[in-house]
Amino acid sequence: MDEPTFYRFLIWGFLVIAALIFPALFFITAPYGRHETKSWGPTIDNRLGWLLMESPSVLVFFACWYLGGCPTDPASLGFLFLWQLHYVHRAFIFPFRIKSGPKRMPIAIAAAAFTFTSLNGYLNGRWLFGFAGADRHGSAWLSDPRFFLGAAIFLAGFAINQQADWILLHLRKPGETGYKIPRGGFYRWVSCPNYFGEIIEWVGFAICTWSLPGVAFALWTIANLLPRARSHHRWYREKFPDYPPERKALVPGLF
Ligand code: NDP
Repeated sequence: MDEPTFYRFLIWGFLVIAALIFPALFFITAPYGRHETKSWGPTIDNRLGWLLMESPSVLVFFACWYLGGCPTDPASLGFLFLWQLHYVHRAFIFPFRIKSGPKRMPIAIAAAAFTFTSLNGYLNGRWLFGFAGADRHGSAWLSDPRFFLGAAIFLAGFAINQQADWILLHLRKPGETGYKIPRGGFYRWVSCPNYFGEIIEWVGFAICTWSLPGVAFALWTIANLLPRARSHHRWYREKFPDYPPERKALVPGLF
């Protein structure tokens, strides 16, 4: 099988799995963080898990750029910048900012996420710096409104995600491991603005790249984070009797 055929199988398989996982995640909540359970087998350190499961996004995407001949046209550099802006932080900075004490996560979760980020980095990077080629995203793409609009949406989502995570990561004093009600920023309106921002980012990236792998990644992010936001929201309401009743789970004013 040649690589373009393999790629086509992979991307359609990726979409089918996202469609299957979406309803399943309303019934199964990935057991890490506040939803941690002992029943998912052997575990690893939480920080190490984050580092391992997110680093393929940086490395595989960068490898695709390198193997694509290190394109330096502005559109390619723009895609590389946006992607790495998010993932260098998520893989190599975020794990050292979390204050979870000696928390652990199941190896099964880290392994599933490692597989996902490797495939996702390949699907997006190989398309943008290989199969799509300069014909698809040449210099003209820079003056296309989809590029600017998508990049602006991505950056807005990035800002919301960063602010929301910053608020969460400052709720605990050194040594604390419990949970508090987050306030301020988008927490005025929703329980999970970090997930809301993350979804906006990848919808923006899909628009900016105008690509099927970009759309597939945005759909995966929604399939993963929408059910998890509902689980977090339900958990907050059960745990805190004074939880703000007007707050929605994920999207301000909607749900
Ligand atoms: P959470 O909101 O569950 O937790 C983020 C961090 O804040 C954790 O260290 C958590 O500690 C801590 N925290 C959360 N709520 C509270 C609280 N009420 N009081 C005190 N501390 C709190 O997010 P995730 O861990 O699921 O995700 C982290 C980041 O990764 C997010 O930005 C998310 O968008 C992104 N992500 C992206 C995915 C994708 O599909 N693209 C998938 C999953 C995550 P603890 O670990 O102890 O709960």
